[in-house]
Amino acid sequence: MSGDFLSFLKLRFMDRRFTDQQKILADFQDQVAVHCPSCNAKAKAVSDQAARKAKLTCVQCGYSKECSMLTKMGGTTIQVSMPAHRYFDAILWYRSAFRNDVFMAYNEAHLAYLKNYIGATLREHRDRTHFTLLEKLPKFYHDARNRESLLKLIAKLEKKL
Ligand SMILES: [Zn+2]
Repeated sequence: MSGDFLSFLKLRFMDRRFTDQQKILADFQDQVAVHCPSCNAKAKAVSDQAARKAKLTCVQCGYSKECSMLTKMGGTTIQVSMPAHRYFDAILWYRSAFRNDVFMAYNEAHLAYLKNYIGATLREHRDRTHFTLLEKLPKFYHDARNRESLLKLIAKLEKKL
């Protein structure tokens, strides 16, 4: 193989390709990183659809709170499905102001997914459903001009202690 061909391969490989995995927000909403309501450290809100319970726990201070996902509405009991932190009105851990908007991710996997999308120079989308997380994102996430600043913001969030 000639050197030229090798460097061509290297270049191709360096194209950062993002393949839309058709994730929806619900894929990430059952495990949410939050600020502990008691000590403000990183805590976890988890919702268990099968058990119909949500739980917020903090390993730093031992805070633990559980709540039911069931609620009474007009005499009938219904199951409320929402992102885990919302059962406790907890503040998202991965959240930061971005110009006039707010950048946010529910957890590490969600943050990594957004990072891959924003950092990709090539974005491949499969059949669009209009329901995926990427399509629902506010405009600023998609704007290539914001790429550098968004990646910096994500790097900062990744290191947040
Ligand atoms: Zn705590």
